[in-house]
Amino acid sequence: MRANYRLQRLFVDVDLAAGASIEADKNQFHYLAHVIRADEGSELLLFNGRDGEWLARLSYPTRKKITLEPVEQTRPQPPLPYLSYLFAPLKTGRMDYMVQKAVEMGVGRIQPVLTQHVQGKPAKSDRLRANIIEAAEQCGVLAVPDLDEPVKLPELMENWDADRRLIFCDEADEHQNPVTALGEIKEKKLALLIGPEGGFSDEERALLHELPFVTAIPLGPRILRADTAAVAALAVIQATIGDWK
Ligand code: SAM
Repeated sequence: MRANYRLQRLFVDVDLAAGASIEADKNQFHYLAHVIRADEGSELLLFNGRDGEWLARLSYPTRKKITLEPVEQTRPQPPLPYLSYLFAPLKTGRMDYMVQKAVEMGVGRIQPVLTQHVQGKPAKSDRLRANIIEAAEQCGVLAVPDLDEPVKLPELMENWDADRRLIFCDEADEHQNPVTALGEIKEKKLALLIGPEGGFSDEERALLHELPFVTAIPLGPRILRADTAAVAALAVIQATIGDWK
């Protein structure tokens, strides 16, 4: 079911149930009272990543306080998608963009991966989490992706769940079209791995190509920046074997 785009959506980190009284935190108060100037009795949508989406009514018990009262559930909680997104950290602005786009494109888990040519530092998890929530609020995503701690590529590969197919975007793949390789994937659980701006090292590419749970894909004849590659790969995965089918 698609989200209602006319109402404001807000993530809250508390349980949602009819009649609960939820106090807006400082940032939410500022946004609701000063940015969108919500009136007493305005309606908005709340979600918490667990209890689905709720229509809620806003009130100002005092001039400095807003409470939100869930009235009825408007959409049930969907499960987290089976698609994980693994990326080598980039510089901050591009990483913010990449994480937001991954949420919009329907990933269920976000995992920073440390590769040999990483240029950016792993972003603070608070910042990544804020980007995840902002994208979920904007796009009506109710299954808020989990965020993992950064891990080194070899360690991640050693502990890999063999039932999950790892789709690795290989900039050195001589082919151009990813669709054939994706069409051969049988697993339901998927993960996408995008390299850093400096690309994968030869050693990393050799490791990935040897592993039985890895499918390497190309993304056309041009080298894409990592954030562009992420969106392009997620689109082609969703359209061929994901939830756009
Ligand atoms: N420095 C590398 C080079 O010049 O070959 C380019 C790295 S690219 C900016 C960052 C990541 O995006 C790559 O590691 C890869 O995962 C993905 N990527 C970019 N273009 C791609 C392509 N045409 N095919 C497959 N993956 C691509």
